[in-house]
Amino acid sequence: MTNGPLNRKLKMGLVGGGQGSFIGKVHSIAACLDNRATMVAGAFSSNAERSRASAPDYDVPEDRAYASFQAMLDVESKKPKGERVDFVSVATPNHMHFDVAKAALQAGFHVICDKPMTFDLAQAEELAKLVDASKSVFAVTHNYTGYPLVRQAREMILSGELGEIQAVRACYIQGWLRTRLEADNQKQAAWRTDPKQSGAAGCFGDIATHAYNLGRYMTGLLPAEISCHLKAFEPGRKLDDYGTAIVRYQNGGLGTVTASQISHGRENDLSIEIDGTKGSLAWRQEEPNVMVVRQNGQPHRLYTRDPNAPFMNASGRAACRLPSGHPEAFFEAFANIYCAAFDAMIEVESGKNIERTNTVYPNVHDGVEGMYFIQQCVASSSANGGWLPMNHPRCRK
Ligand code: NAD
Repeated sequence: MTNGPLNRKLKMGLVGGGQGSFIGKVHSIAACLDNRATMVAGAFSSNAERSRASAPDYDVPEDRAYASFQAMLDVESKKPKGERVDFVSVATPNHMHFDVAKAALQAGFHVICDKPMTFDLAQAEELAKLVDASKSVFAVTHNYTGYPLVRQAREMILSGELGEIQAVRACYIQGWLRTRLEADNQKQAAWRTDPKQSGAAGCFGDIATHAYNLGRYMTGLLPAEISCHLKAFEPGRKLDDYGTAIVRYQNGGLGTVTASQISHGRENDLSIEIDGTKGSLAWRQEEPNVMVVRQNGQPHRLYTRDPNAPFMNASGRAACRLPSGHPEAFFEAFANIYCAAFDAMIEVESGKNIERTNTVYPNVHDGVEGMYFIQQCVASSSANGGWLPMNHPRCRK
């Protein structure tokens, strides 16, 4: 355990993650992977019975499997420090993120919130103000930023190895919504295609936000304007299942973000290509342990995730757990977000002031920017791709 002066594990309370759900379980595995946290409580479902029934999946005792998130926050906040939950992880559908995160902050807990951070931009801005006024750590699980070679690339780019960055092509391509799974009430499809639960965008809220965030995180380029076209190709679907956005960056660079849920046979194909004046690089999350760096006239360089290799920089190395050749992937990258947030929580618990904008983990500013991205993409698409500002004052600088 590496919780330093805290000298105990951090205690987790999970909201969401009930039986049959997806990402809640990933949160609990990621949080506990490095033995720095333990899961002690949860409100796993909006249905009290289902919440109780889900508790054994997490070894959470019956008396801490709560009927609602309000009950969890109420009871847990009255327990003495050290016994009560330290942080609340939010893994519900999008429309519930704000209520849970706001109440958790107001009750004095740290918060790890899934993306998109809220239902709309107004909620995101309000949440950011609450975070500012609190001592709490707030992380958003844009988990792809936790991959070792993403961190490696980020350090290489920020230190100038690729020269000035001029182009960013990010794609997140899936095929699982090629048919209207929502018509059969498939759990994950049903809420993602419902504007009342998903928000103003479907595919663009769900996965383009990840692709956009990845480009911002890896390059540090600041956005200026955006133009977007969104489509709902499946007849009867209320929200987009495909789209492309073009981003004009403040340095004159251009970015594209393409996201699809209707591409036959495609799974979670998040990829990014970045062109700088001195070199280019390419990375794909379905093969996350390799990255290609290219320079004209030179052999292509294949970076492998190898914590012992001299070519790995400090950020890349620090994000690795296993020796090279043993694949690390989704859980480990997710755990790297948790680890960085835990470091910050321990600083707060030790009475220190923490960095809140340029953090290793995606924070509330990234969450606000994600919601701004969704809002501006939907508005631009409604205006036939018209250019709209993308320089929100909250952007990570
Ligand atoms: P899901 O439908 O599989 O699970 C949602 C869970 O939340 C269910 O157990 C449901 O019962 C529970 N829930 C709903 N309302 C609740 C409430 N009021 N109180 C307590 N629990 C409640 O959805 P999912 O695919 O796991 O997605 C959940 C969230 O995670 C979404 O915001 C999604 O965008 C995000 N997500 C992120 C990633 C990632 O890679 N970071 C991947 C998948 C999903």
